[in-house]
Order: sequence, then C-alpha cells, then structure tokens
Amino acid sequence: MSKENLEYISKEFMKRHISIADIAYEVFKSQIDYVENLKISDANIAVSKVLSKTEVQNALMVAINLDNLANKNMLDGPLQEAVHSDKGTFGIDEVIALSTSGLYGSIATTNYGYLDKIKPGIIGRLNDLQRETGFVTTFLDDMVAAIISSAEGKIAHNTEESDTVYVEMMVKR
Ligand code: MG
Repeated sequence: MSKENLEYISKEFMKRHISIADIAYEVFKSQIDYVENLKISDANIAVSKVLSKTEVQNALMVAINLDNLANKNMLDGPLQEAVHSDKGTFGIDEVIALSTSGLYGSIATTNYGYLDKIKPGIIGRLNDLQRETGFVTTFLDDMVAAIISSAEGKIAHNTEESDTVYVEMMVKR
C-alpha cells in the first residue's frame, strides 16, 4: 500500500466526482440481502480495504492514465479512437477490471459481470458522463465496478469466515 498512490487516485476520483460513499452505497445495496445487520460503515470499510491493496491501486492508475491520455488525444494510432469512443468491442477495459475482481474470488468476478451489464449508480453516472460530455471514462467506469464487486466479495467471504469459525467450534465440542 502506498500513500502516494492513494493520494493520486483520490485526486483523480474527485475530478470525476467519484466518492467512497457512492461506491460503498452500491456495495451496501447489493449485500444487505445476504448479510444480516450489514451497516453502511461495513461497506465503507470493505471499499477502503480494497482501495488499499497495491494491485488494485496499480490497475486504477493504469486505468486513469489511459483515460487521461485519451482525453488529451495523446494515445497512438487506432487505440486513441477505440478508447475515446468507448468502442463496445474493445474489451481491454473489462479485462483489467475483471482481473482486479479476480483478486477477490468468484463472487467478485461474477458480480463484476452483473454490474457491468446493469451499470447502477456511480457506474452509470460515469458512463453517461462520457456519452454526454465526451470526458473519457472508458477504463475507470469498469474499475469502479471492479472495486464495488471486490468489496462485495470481501464482505461475503468475511461473513462466511465467521460462520466457519462457528462450525469449527461446534466440531471441537
Ligand atoms: Mg468501459
């Protein structure tokens, strides 16, 4: 974990009006059906933990840089057009996001696919921002979906872990 990375990422998030609260809200909304007594603060903690992971930060920095370069028309050749227009068949934005979700297991990966399809809340807002203003969010909208699904996976597994501890206790008796 690097403080410098986090500072850079939060500055870039602010430019796009992305807040931890927006991300955590989506996590909370999806997990409340599965986790009894889930609090919004649990979602906030899960998101913060995901954002503290070096691999996640690295993927985010790549995503942000590619979007920024496309915004400035600074990518080379056909890549500029593909990223700038958020070409549907480009797919590398999803590949980076999917690999990031993969760090948090199959729940995170499958939830990523779902979020990419329905684009709720902040993901939809980023997608609309690009369509309406031309401000490139080709990579970052997918990475935000990856952060949401990773935090969801984290919550699901943490809940499962405490169940496991309970089962172990019962077996020992
Ligand atoms: Mg995309």
